[in-house]
Amino acid sequence: MTSNRTLETTDVLICGCGPTGAMLSGYLDRMAVQNIVLEREVEITTDPRGIVLDDDGIRYMQGLGLYDHVYTDIGSCIEKVLFLPGEQQSLNTRPIFGFNTASVSLLKFQSISWYETFPTNLCMNQSEGYTGHVGVISHKQPALEKHLRSVIQGSQVSQLRSRCTLKSIEEDKDWVYASYEDSEGNSRQIRARFLVGADGKTGYVRKQYLEPRGIKMEWAEQCRYEEIWVALNWKISLPTPETHPDFPLWKLGYSSEDVYDHFFPKDFRFLCNPRRPAVCGRFGQTKDRLWRFEFVVQAGEDPEEMSAPHMIQDIVFPYLRHAGARYGLDADVEFPTDCINVLRSRPFRFAARKCNKWAMGRVILCGDAAHVFPPFGGQGIASGFRDAIALAWRLAILTRSRSTRLEHEQVLVGWYSERSQQFQKSLNSTLRNGQLVSSTNPVQNFIRDWAFRVVQLIPPIKHQLELGPRSEGPVAYIHSDGMPFLPYLHGGIAFPQTYCTELVGLDNRVRFTDDVIFSKEKTNLFQIVVLLDKPSQAIAAVEEMDGVDGLSDGHLSTKEATLLVQAKDCLPNDENTGFTSLSLFRTATAKEFEQSDLCVGRPKPHGYSDCQIWDVMKGKRFVIVRHDRFVYAACDTRAEMVEAAKGLGESLPLN
Ligand SMILES: Cc1cc2nc3c(=O)[nH]c(=O)nc-3n(C[C@H](O)[C@H](O)[C@H](O)COP(=O)(O)OP(=O)(O)OC[C@H]3O[C@@H](n4cnc5c(N)ncnc54)[C@H](O)[C@@H]3O)c2cc1C
Repeated sequence: MTSNRTLETTDVLICGCGPTGAMLSGYLDRMAVQNIVLEREVEITTDPRGIVLDDDGIRYMQGLGLYDHVYTDIGSCIEKVLFLPGEQQSLNTRPIFGFNTASVSLLKFQSISWYETFPTNLCMNQSEGYTGHVGVISHKQPALEKHLRSVIQGSQVSQLRSRCTLKSIEEDKDWVYASYEDSEGNSRQIRARFLVGADGKTGYVRKQYLEPRGIKMEWAEQCRYEEIWVALNWKISLPTPETHPDFPLWKLGYSSEDVYDHFFPKDFRFLCNPRRPAVCGRFGQTKDRLWRFEFVVQAGEDPEEMSAPHMIQDIVFPYLRHAGARYGLDADVEFPTDCINVLRSRPFRFAARKCNKWAMGRVILCGDAAHVFPPFGGQGIASGFRDAIALAWRLAILTRSRSTRLEHEQVLVGWYSERSQQFQKSLNSTLRNGQLVSSTNPVQNFIRDWAFRVVQLIPPIKHQLELGPRSEGPVAYIHSDGMPFLPYLHGGIAFPQTYCTELVGLDNRVRFTDDVIFSKEKTNLFQIVVLLDKPSQAIAAVEEMDGVDGLSDGHLSTKEATLLVQAKDCLPNDENTGFTSLSLFRTATAKEFEQSDLCVGRPKPHGYSDCQIWDVMKGKRFVIVRHDRFVYAACDTRAEMVEAAKGLGESLPLN
């Protein structure tokens, strides 16, 4: 081995540049933590696997400055997620239920064109969650990864080394040593303070290094889900009267685009077909014309055989055959199969599992390397993102701290204990979707369908159902040892995001609150947000927290604090309150957001409430927010702020 004096050294070595590794490297860049990412492959995998990303995922992309690409290159909003019952192989069956879409009036729609009359004001495109974003987007994983990597490529502190494969790991008290094979086939050595295995579900770090040391990928609590699904990706080209002159819908006045919309509808569908559960929908941007169909492989079936063209004919193509009666025609109408280009058809094994520990010594597991999900919740990538952002600031503290009192094991246990709690929440919502789509018992399904129809007659229940997982409110951790937040000061809850604009300065752009709270020039990992009732309180609030940062061992800076007031509490002359700092912002209204650049390419923010931060923080004045957008403490008084600042310095000493 090379001597330590000549050995290449970095703070964090990341194995794997999938979405999780790339996001971690991106946030380490924001925190100026030196890191190197080793990636086995030359290029990003072009085969799209993940196609759904939730609002947390969008928020964390935004945190890396990638929001501009979300709706222009990466994906588009999924407006409705529908659950279709019955054995009929049709995408137009009346849904029993839909996230943020179903309404009482739905029950009246017996016709095949029910979806045309579906209410659009209550749908998945709402901003009723806690992030200011739509509930979910459908995306192209390669495009998402490309933009994540652009952060590394533009970085002074992050480096990506492609075609480099991790081969061995050793560690001592202070360092972890790794060897890898580089793109020329040479063996290289490197040491780092921490090594993160973001190398996927069969990666080296867990399988070869941590499993022999006792880490296990266990069944998730209360669930032994393991199934094989075939996942198809199709690229559709549009038929035209020139290419397909005999196609029967031209004479009824349909355009090529209409045909596409009818056969490949834009809403995402769970096909609760007891004979063959499936999910399908468009992904990427509309112009990409990409379509995903996933169906379950039943016990006794050969997965490879099930993904062969003749089985796809039987299982999928009937969904693309419409009864002629739908159009007033005698014969059935089939979408021209020569307009379908099969990009991929292959089986994947899915399970619900997570590791008993996600870190040991100086080696850490993140993303799919630490946990895996069934395919019906769109939680794989978002969970890897959550791991990454929550780990990045801890690694920044661990590599910056000069204190001997800071124990990395305890910090890492706190990290994965929090993450495990959220994993369980994500899994629960995934499994609820799974139970709906996979139930094969006809009696249970009959009861389920009618129960949904009946409860949706009660508007508040219907609305809760429509909100899906977001109806549960922001995630709140249950405190245990090593978790860096103060539960008795309202810590541990996810800090909501709304829209805002400067109150004092001339810049009247509408922005996301995270973008001002965690703006690029701010260096502290914990930020103070001051929630005012009116702008005139600003000067007094700043005076009240004066000097508190000095008690936090360098974690807080009152100079970096963001002051927020609600738009409704501002009067026309409030910018002249005498408070001149540019850190005073007022919330922006839904109307202002709608008219801003931030709304381009996404739906209007229906259901948005600009007082959400105040509601969730229950009227507290001073909030200390961690970099992963969770609350460390929320305080009413200076005395509480002093306590919180001291607590921060004691639990995460830097000096
Ligand atoms: C069919 C299918 C559908 C899915 N649908 C969704 C969905 O809709 N939404 C969703 O969120 N998720 C979905 N997922 C899951 C999602 O794709 C994963 O959760 C996600 O890719 C995990 O990201 P990761 O970075 O943790 O791991 P990976 O994406 O697996 O990345 C690991 C990286 O590590 C590299 N690597 C491995 N070993 C080494 C080594 N020794 N040295 C160097 N590099 C190494 C690999 O080359 C790879 O680039 C789906 C998955 C499949 C298969």
